Amino acid sequence: MAKVSGRLFILSAPSGTGKTSLTKSLIRKNINLSLSISYTSRLMRSSEVEGHDYFFVERNIFEQMLEDGELVESAEIYGNLYGTSRKWINEAINSGKDILLEIDGQGARQVREIFPDVVSIFVLPPSLEVLENRLKDRNQDSKEVIVKRMAAAKEEISHVSEYDYVIINDNMDMALRDLVSVVQSERLRAPAQLTRYHDLVTQLG
Ligand code: 5GP
Repeated sequence: MAKVSGRLFILSAPSGTGKTSLTKSLIRKNINLSLSISYTSRLMRSSEVEGHDYFFVERNIFEQMLEDGELVESAEIYGNLYGTSRKWINEAINSGKDILLEIDGQGARQVREIFPDVVSIFVLPPSLEVLENRLKDRNQDSKEVIVKRMAAAKEEISHVSEYDYVIINDNMDMALRDLVSVVQSERLRAPAQLTRYHDLVTQLG
């Protein structure tokens, strides 16, 4: 089987949509998808682990990385900087690994410019009420922050048509099944398959 370059997948969703749980479940499925670990200037939450959830860096270090071109995309969200390592992405793609980027719409736009073949997926909540209830149930944010997150969610959702696939996360198992289908279908696209199975196709044809 011939090696083909890795595929890039982007997953975006407003906070409270269940994106992080979905991403973790998808990676745990062991379908040969590697998650890109972003750099961020945000403070680490007590539940997070350095190098697992993010690489946490001081703001000035992040800005230096930006200046040195070390990030393939970046965005400022709620006053914190987030970005994806250029080196890691390039190495993963060249080694034939498929990669998942869990990034926002600003980042997605930048990645599409550089990698036009990227497959982007947007996860929607089943309704604004459900989204607001999920944010409240997390007990993570004050009322004011929830109002801000809801406004940010509406802004993010207004860009949904820029994405290749849209998944509604009403039920986590079904949303996960949909996500796996997208990844598997993209892997079966003819150009990649004809490269992968070049010898077989030549033999058969
Ligand atoms: P949080 O601080 O809650 O972990 O993430 C906030 C937002 O940042 C989420 O929408 C997440 O998708 C986005 N994000 C995380 N890493 C990156 C990144 O490397 N680039 C961009 N553009 N967004 C990111």
